[in-house]
Amino acid sequence: MPKCGESETRDAIGAASDAWGAWRAKTAAERGSLIAGLAGLMRRDTDRLAELMTLEQGKPLAEARGEIAYALSFLDWSAEEAKRVYGDVVPASAPDKRILALRQPVGVTAIITPWNFPSAMITRKLGPALAAGCTAVVKPAEDTPLSAIAIGELAVEAGFPPGVINIVTGDPRAIGGAMLDDERVRKISFTGSTPVGRLLMEQASKHLLRLSLELGGHAPFIVFEDADMDRAVESAVACKFRNAGQTCICANRFYVHESVHDRFVERFGAAMEGLKVGNGMGEGVNIGPLINDAGIEKVEEHVADAVSKGAKVVRGGRRASVEGCVDRFFQPTLITGMTPDMRVATDETFGPVAPVAAFSSEEEVVRLANDSEYGLAAYFFTDNASRVMRVSETLEYGIVGVNDGGPSTAQAPFGGVKHSGLGREGGKYAMDEYTELKYVSWRL
Ligand code: ADP
Repeated sequence: MPKCGESETRDAIGAASDAWGAWRAKTAAERGSLIAGLAGLMRRDTDRLAELMTLEQGKPLAEARGEIAYALSFLDWSAEEAKRVYGDVVPASAPDKRILALRQPVGVTAIITPWNFPSAMITRKLGPALAAGCTAVVKPAEDTPLSAIAIGELAVEAGFPPGVINIVTGDPRAIGGAMLDDERVRKISFTGSTPVGRLLMEQASKHLLRLSLELGGHAPFIVFEDADMDRAVESAVACKFRNAGQTCICANRFYVHESVHDRFVERFGAAMEGLKVGNGMGEGVNIGPLINDAGIEKVEEHVADAVSKGAKVVRGGRRASVEGCVDRFFQPTLITGMTPDMRVATDETFGPVAPVAAFSSEEEVVRLANDSEYGLAAYFFTDNASRVMRVSETLEYGIVGVNDGGPSTAQAPFGGVKHSGLGREGGKYAMDEYTELKYVSWRL
């Protein structure tokens, strides 16, 4: 991979800026058709792209295939949505006046993405940006540049004009710095950690850039006494162990009503027995390696910290060795007796560790759930309809899964509150992030 820095980033911004005029002048149908074309090529090449992703990122091949389908769904959706970027005609206060509110593309968009979803985090931003009429400079994570370049190659094959999509791999600080220092860039869309998001927000003040930030999370997963236990357990496994727990909306802390706590722990532990740790290319593997040494060390520290503060390891708790592979696998881990002073209860573990605590009342658990600097996703399981509405409204989170551990989908608004970020991605809402309203006051 090329190690690009400041000057290559400026070149890419120059190309995006030069290409912008012609790109925004295309009809929405023309832009949509190119975006749909790219989705089609990703669909055609799903196996190849998924293999590449597993080889560079480690997630099991079935999950990588799922991610390619998810990634291209954002392009499919955006291709359609390009045609629905409506403005308004507002009734005026004088008979000889007309008021128009036009929605126009913001301009050159800088996109910075993480390694945990190497394709989908790019298309979730690129799709609506292109659909709205923006051009883009993409900086993928340094751990997963290959999946990004593969999308770039397919964009060339799809016939995108040069300069509309630019990909810059290399030094994050130099590239990010150049993006934010350049007045030709009008918008930045970032998915990653809260500290880097905060830094970008500070740097964005120079040119008063528009920002979309999808940052860290610390999702509570609540099981009420009236929950459907089968559904809760199945969702807990999927929500916790997808991508080896390295997702910003995965369940981080489990709160289970005291009357069903032991039953849930037993069932959850039994379901975890079926999870196979191994090389992501292997048959039937559910949990691959963690992304890097710092990633696995953090997981170990979290478990050790919890144990030192009185938690009990019910299952797992250590590294797993996989023959012929790097030493970066962690056993699916279940711990009970979580207390608020433990790191697992407040920091993102980003690994396959499920800490559980018992609670006794709805009021108590909602307070515990909201006691976090983050506010991305929260989950709860209940069959009580009034509770569904009451708790959904009280949780201070951008995304709430009710009896559902997998809420992500292209047409829904995805994003957080508090330290989890600003703005929404997905669906019609994403178009707001890449368009500016222009008011035209017209005297006849
Ligand atoms: P994670 O902890 O998930 O790796 P990061 O926030 O460090 O999250 O990384 C997410 C993305 O932000 C990556 O593409 C990374 O290269 C990029 N990044 C990290 N530091 C900076 C920075 N100072 N400026 C711009 N981008 C950065």
